[in-house]
Order: sequence, then C-alpha cells, then structure tokens
Amino acid sequence: MGAKPSQDKGKGFGRPQPLRQTLQRIAAKHPDFDLHFLGNEPVAKALAWLERFPGVGRKVSAATLNFSTLQRPALVIDAHVLRVLQRLGLVSLKATSAEEAYDPFMANLAAWTASDLSELHCLIKRLGQETCHAGRPDCRGCPLEAQCKTGGLHRRL
Ligand code: SF4
Repeated sequence: MGAKPSQDKGKGFGRPQPLRQTLQRIAAKHPDFDLHFLGNEPVAKALAWLERFPGVGRKVSAATLNFSTLQRPALVIDAHVLRVLQRLGLVSLKATSAEEAYDPFMANLAAWTASDLSELHCLIKRLGQETCHAGRPDCRGCPLEAQCKTGGLHRRL
C-alpha cells in the first residue's frame, strides 16, 4: 500500500500547501526571493507584510525578521515564552497567542535591539523548558522567583 498524504490539520508551514502558495506569491513580486527590502521597512510594516501569507503568524514573522540576517528588533513569542511572560506578570493572562501578547508587551521594549530581543527569547524559552514547565513549574529553582507575580501561587500548590 502506498503512503497516504498527511492528514495533518494544523496551521503553518507543516502543511505543504501554504508553503507552496507562499513561495508562489513571493516569487510573483520577488523572483530572487530576496527579502532584504524588509530590513528598510518599519518593523510593524515588515511583520504585516509577512503575515499576509498563509500559515504565517506573529511567531513566524518575528522569527523571520529577528533570527535572519535582517536582524530586526522583533521578539519571537512561542508557547514557552508566552507562558513564562504571563506567569511573571508581564503579559496579560487573557492573551492566548503571540498575536494578542505582542503589541502590549513590545510597547515596553521600544529601545531594545534585535540582539537584546534574540537573547531575551533564548533566555525566557530556556527558563520555560527547564524550570517554568507547562505543568508544574519548579519555582524553588527559579532565578526570577522574587520578581514573579505567580511564583508564590505555584509554590503553594
Ligand atoms: S517563579 Fe515559578 S512561575 Fe514564576 S517564572 Fe519562575 S518557575 Fe515560572
């Protein structure tokens, strides 16, 4: 029996169709796939340009701008980063996605460089992976416990 096409119903570049559509749309205006022009646009405009493509949300658009040679000041908010920022009290608990969390949080980081934001992403993500777990966070071993809005709550559980 031959292999069947993926039944993955998830969003994003895990599916071949959005990726193909995106590449076709970029190629229509930029046949060389050179996106360096995004380095000259205001960050908000560059994020919006990328997010016109299927499957591209704020996490992917910010990663494209910040983790590439474009070196733009955009913070990648993935699930780990969102969870830790919320527990620290830096992002509203009502935010359910990077899209909802991004603008209010970034309003406080206007002076941060691309390098600052890349380092912030790496440090917060690592804290989320190693200490501030999605299940039960290890607050006693957390270097930010004294600053954390919810660390005490978790410790009492
Ligand atoms: S104190 Fe606890 S809840 Fe707060 S960031 Fe650290 S591990 Fe997460």
